[in-house]
Amino acid sequence: MKIIKKDINRNIPLLRETIRFLFASYCIFIGYKFYMFLLWATGHSKVFVNRPSSVEAFLPISALASLRMFLYSGQYARIHPAGLTILLTAMLIALLFRKGFCGWICPVGLVSNLLERLGRKLKLAICLPKWLDMTLKPIKYLGLAFFIYMIFWQMNIAAVKQFINSPYNISVDARMLSFFLHPSKLTIIILLSLAILSIIIRNFWCKYLCPYGALLGILAYFSPTTIKREEELCIKCKKCKLACPACIDIFNKEVIRTPECYGCLKCISACPVEDCLQLKFLNKKRMPLWLLPVMIVGVFLGVWIIAEITGHWQTQVPIEMLKQFYVDIPL
Ligand code: SF4
Ligand code: SF4
Ligand code: SF4
Repeated sequence: MKIIKKDINRNIPLLRETIRFLFASYCIFIGYKFYMFLLWATGHSKVFVNRPSSVEAFLPISALASLRMFLYSGQYARIHPAGLTILLTAMLIALLFRKGFCGWICPVGLVSNLLERLGRKLKLAICLPKWLDMTLKPIKYLGLAFFIYMIFWQMNIAAVKQFINSPYNISVDARMLSFFLHPSKLTIIILLSLAILSIIIRNFWCKYLCPYGALLGILAYFSPTTIKREEELCIKCKKCKLACPACIDIFNKEVIRTPECYGCLKCISACPVEDCLQLKFLNKKRMPLWLLPVMIVGVFLGVWIIAEITGHWQTQVPIEMLKQFYVDIPL
């Protein structure tokens, strides 16, 4: 049995942390920029700051409504187009490279992983027993089903368009920021509870509650990118499961294609046996590990640039009109 240290694989977690921290830092920057824009738009500041369209990444329900409109009428959203572009890009990445958006880009996933890491340091973080895991896992799919039912079945296309053009949807980005700037007691209790649960239960939010991740997981199931375990090389040390944020029983599977896999590659980096876990394309061709983040980030940034150039990123609502919708929102 060949057991070696694979230095190149050990650099992958560092690369992942770097990419995720860069995206998270950018999100903090755009949050600040959006706040400054709102101060100007609501008359609290004379300094004009451009509205950063990337904030629309945090409007998944609006993006789902825009997706319905796009699929049924071919009309691309004029309001929050970046939200739809980001949703479509995350879906494309999932179809090609597993839940790569979750594993390499999403800042909420990073927070979830940081809490998990804290839990590990405190020796609190656990994987739930199978029966409880199976009981809780459907929650995120039920959440997703609820939103799809409401937007794709309960509303006709006219109602969807009415929602998209409503003052509520136009100003929902500002409402969300205001919601987090002035959280109610209930909001604080819920956020604290989620944080505590995420410290105790590995990746609690992503694994059991996030409907966005549920959608990406369903698409990722059909992805040609998989992780393959060579049974004859495996020494059943279970280091892969210990490293896996999704608590997947990798050591028991031949091919990992479960919707729970984030494509984070932590299992491959943690495996002490050379070639025991491999990244595969179409279950045949071996992919170098570095290629996965390059493709994920490349697709994400590539679509972003194309969307900017082709007018699928910036809102079409004139800024003077936007101001009217923001006027009553407390900052
Ligand atoms: S499951 Fe949701 S919160 Fe977690 S990384 Fe994926 S999209 Fe982000
Ligand atoms: S880390 Fe997992 S796949 Fe690798 S040898 Fe150990 S049990 Fe087998
Ligand atoms: S199976 Fe591997 S790539 Fe998938 S989530 Fe677990 S550690 Fe990450």
